[in-house]
Amino acid sequence: MGRVYNFSAGPAVLPEEVLKEAADEMLDYKGTGMSVMEMSHRSKAFDDIIKEAEKDIRDLMGIPDNYKVLFLQGGASQQFAAVPMNLMKNKKAAYIITGQWAKKAYQEAQKYGEAVAVASSADKTFSYIPDCSDLDIPEDADYVYICENNTIYGTKYKTLPNTKGHTLVADVSSCFLSEPVDVTKYGVIYGGVQKNVGPAGVVIAIIREDLITDDVLEGTPTMLKWKTQADADSLYNTPPCYGIYICGKVFKWIKKMGGLEAMKAHNEKKAKILYDYLDQSKLFKGTVVPEDRSLMNVPFVTGDAELDKKFVAEATAAGFVNLKGHRTVGGMRASIYNAMPIEGVEKLVEFMKKFERLIRFDRGEISMLHRLLHMISTADLIKNNPDDWRDKLNERSKSKGKVVLVLFAVILVLCLFVRIIT
Ligand code: PMP
Repeated sequence: MGRVYNFSAGPAVLPEEVLKEAADEMLDYKGTGMSVMEMSHRSKAFDDIIKEAEKDIRDLMGIPDNYKVLFLQGGASQQFAAVPMNLMKNKKAAYIITGQWAKKAYQEAQKYGEAVAVASSADKTFSYIPDCSDLDIPEDADYVYICENNTIYGTKYKTLPNTKGHTLVADVSSCFLSEPVDVTKYGVIYGGVQKNVGPAGVVIAIIREDLITDDVLEGTPTMLKWKTQADADSLYNTPPCYGIYICGKVFKWIKKMGGLEAMKAHNEKKAKILYDYLDQSKLFKGTVVPEDRSLMNVPFVTGDAELDKKFVAEATAAGFVNLKGHRTVGGMRASIYNAMPIEGVEKLVEFMKKFERLIRFDRGEISMLHRLLHMISTADLIKNNPDDWRDKLNERSKSKGKVVLVLFAVILVLCLFVRIIT
């Protein structure tokens, strides 16, 4: 079977180039005669891999010297506990609840101190990001916590909250390396890599050095104390070696693509194709307010659960997989991370258009004659413009709109004229 277009929310699509390179090196990594999976984490070869990976992510994100980069395990969920354990000095923190992952982090923090929910978008099924310009943040809060991109609901902060001087902690699991960030605005940035950066099993935490101390909550396990790993350059124990190696390759791929600015442009272009279609579709609709839409996760619905199911099944059969929405919200979700090519989104939208036409035809919203004419003229257009038929089809839709308007105006004038003379 050839490769499918994989819209999974994570673990997710990785750059084909990276996978091929890893396959080439599987049995013999750079003349070591072994796979990276088989080598000691104390070996020179692995030391080079982890050091180079750190250097590359520092370059990509412009991470200042006073921040540590840690390669950890335990998933992003483990940091839900590590964050309060390492940062709660006053045993108080402010949480902004914008979805399930923020809520889980908030609930975990309640085990260790007072986690205060200072804003939430639960009232509208997390379909927006609350106004965070003037929150009621307790003076003695140790930090303000956000989930910057909400994987399940498809929202993203376009402006960081005004933390009023408090340390900002962000879970960036589903927007990691998707666009440039100003690291200095955060105390801690962390994320599971299994969406944009690599295989599941690695968590990258970028932490300002003054926040890495021995002064952690009593009972904090050695492995959850950031200082343990910071002092050992992420090698306190055996790290997820193979995962780190793949992350390193993805960093190089992003650099080759032009870095985070280029990645942002690429992601904006893809997201626009999908959102533009959703905005004019008479069948599908996006579920997030336009100003807070994520570039990475695009949820949409038809409003009919059975029809959603039919769409997901037909899309899967056509090679567009993992489009089913999160089990808690239903509908569909297309995750279009860095490694999803533009072509994947274009083809998905073509498929959605075709599906929409068929459904509307079945519902009697489009006549047989209309459909037949459309099919004949589209086939003709593809035959005559094999390379740029998509652009031509778009142009034609636009000019068709204008023709319909002119015809309508002419009919109106004719009606008025007939009315006047009779
Ligand atoms: N945060 C976000 C934003 C996520 O999307 C996820 C899971 N996909 C998690 C945290 C939890 O990650 P993990 O499964 O690595 O614990």
